[in-house]
Amino acid sequence: MDADDGGIKKDFSTAILERKKAPNRLLADDGEGAVVPDNSTVALSPAAMEQLGIYIGDLVLLRGKRRRETVCYALPDGSCPEGRVRAGRGVRANLRVKLGDVVTVNRRAVAPPNGTRVQVTPFEDSVDGISGDLFEAYLKPYFRDYLRPLCKGDTFVVRGNMRAVEFKVVATEPADCVLVAADTAIFCNSDEPIKREDEERLDGPGYDDVGGVRKQLAQIRELVELPLRHPKLFQTLGVKPPKGILLYGPPGTGKTLLARAIASESGAHFVVVNGPEIMSKMAGESEANLRKVFEDAERFAPSIIFMDEIDAIAPNRDKTHGEVERRVVSQLLTLMDGLRPRAQVVVIGATNRPNSLDPALRRFGRFDKELDIGVPDEVGRLEILRIHSKDMPLSDDVDLERVGKDTHGFVGADLAALCSEAAFQLIREKMDVIDVEDETIDVDVLNSLRVCNDHLKHAMEV
Ligand code: ADP
Repeated sequence: MDADDGGIKKDFSTAILERKKAPNRLLADDGEGAVVPDNSTVALSPAAMEQLGIYIGDLVLLRGKRRRETVCYALPDGSCPEGRVRAGRGVRANLRVKLGDVVTVNRRAVAPPNGTRVQVTPFEDSVDGISGDLFEAYLKPYFRDYLRPLCKGDTFVVRGNMRAVEFKVVATEPADCVLVAADTAIFCNSDEPIKREDEERLDGPGYDDVGGVRKQLAQIRELVELPLRHPKLFQTLGVKPPKGILLYGPPGTGKTLLARAIASESGAHFVVVNGPEIMSKMAGESEANLRKVFEDAERFAPSIIFMDEIDAIAPNRDKTHGEVERRVVSQLLTLMDGLRPRAQVVVIGATNRPNSLDPALRRFGRFDKELDIGVPDEVGRLEILRIHSKDMPLSDDVDLERVGKDTHGFVGADLAALCSEAAFQLIREKMDVIDVEDETIDVDVLNSLRVCNDHLKHAMEV
């Protein structure tokens, strides 16, 4: 199948180009690349900019699903593939599009008017436990020096002060879309934060939350996301997408995170099956549980079934003496074989010990793709450190590259723990200004917090 992958990819891109009738209908791509789009920018290939008559920094009207529209600045990005528009998660959420969905991009001939008044309200879950002046701490710096476009109904995330706060644009005057200028009055109703409606939740981790696994991410997206999102394409080409993929590597390298990211970015239903847990159930129940998992996955398809520690569910039958194990392995094989090619269900198995799996499971038509999620190298560690410190205010003396060099052998989970330990160390030092008895912490105190080199050093030693 390996040789086919290149073919699938190539055919996919041409198939998409053929389906796309107008040059301004582009497919949403993620935020990575030379330009990192934020809440107010998107990036296009220089060729697309030229074709659509868009100049650097022009405002563009983006239209997504459910008639959702928003306005952003457009920037050229040589690494943006043709036919794509790079938009961060916030912009994609405002447009209600997932990666690969069509976004219509039009240059705005007339800029939106400067706002006289805008009203924003934070989401309750993002300000839980903090108090003080959100305007000074979050909104003022966010809007300073930047004529950001804001459309009524949009949400935007402002990062900083150890927290990312998400706001909703409740009202804008004098139009539904305005530019926030120096004289725009910004009202922030932080006393009555909005409860989040389910559909608005930016569920689960995104691809930008997984670091150091660029190659594996590309492979898994091709193997899982493409077939889940565009089953027709595979049917047309007469290729059967894989039913199962095996991720192997030491604990804490991000196998679960990767599977979750694939599910949330592709909008698939996600079910976790924990190997040891399912096996510890009463005899007979393990098989029934497994059947139920597959039934539900088909019912809520497209679905991803994630089997953590799959070696516990499907050990080599020649080497195991347990009757239960043998039955469960056969059950799993039957269920995988029984998955209809059009069911849009993919099983991702994770294991630390691929060789202890029953070999029948690794044959063609079952878990026939294997990806090595190894211990990250220096570059990977730096990527992961950046991810886990992105909401942390870092002092100028912090050199993440140095930390990346000094953490040989650390896996993703270790680096995540390192960052949170550094933050805890800082908090311990600041206990004199933090009152544990208080319900909330003042944003001025939060504002003064900086994680510095010593905190990270301390964290490396624990
Ligand atoms: P595994 O499934 O391989 O045992 P997990 O995905 O459960 O590992 O990792 C645990 C946590 O460690 C994640 O939730 C994340 O916070 C962090 N982590 C692990 N790997 C990575 C990675 N590659 N990039 C970013 N964070 C990571």
